[in-house]
Amino acid sequence: MEKYIPDIYAKSIYDINYEGLINRGIKCILFDLDNTLLPPKTKEVSKKLVEFIKQIKKNKLHFIIYSNSSKKRVANIASKLDLEYFYYVWKPYRGKLDKIIKKYEYNQSEMAIVGDQLLTDVLFGNRVGITSILVNPISVNDRAFTKFNRMREKRIYKKLYKNNLFVKGKYYE
Ligand SMILES: [Mg+2]
Repeated sequence: MEKYIPDIYAKSIYDINYEGLINRGIKCILFDLDNTLLPPKTKEVSKKLVEFIKQIKKNKLHFIIYSNSSKKRVANIASKLDLEYFYYVWKPYRGKLDKIIKKYEYNQSEMAIVGDQLLTDVLFGNRVGITSILVNPISVNDRAFTKFNRMREKRIYKKLYKNNLFVKGKYYE
């Protein structure tokens, strides 16, 4: 079950302690898209999100959108946020991680993944050995495939809770 436990748990992307991440030696943050940065069916980015990305970039953190969604969706949002992106990355599998590591010469210890799903984002981070950061999903809407994952996720949350391993809503760094 440990593979489903995030290293860090925050309410939303706005609540993550980015200074703390920098102090931990994190240089590059991979961001899940749907339900982490914005609701799954939304095509517009909020002013709040645009401003946030702008501000956080000043911290010299390298942000990359790392999404299982299609090129069309990911590229559209990435251009609006002026972020680099990778699509169809097949989380929780290793996917396109090595491409990024090769391109920028990061160590795994210098990278983090932020996402809203245990079965994709957190499992991916823990498997490949980068810092896994869980946030609550922005909306209750999910894409069709995610709906299936959510049912499995529900059972995992229950199991983690029963074993005193993780409590929803109890945030930690
Ligand atoms: Mg997501």
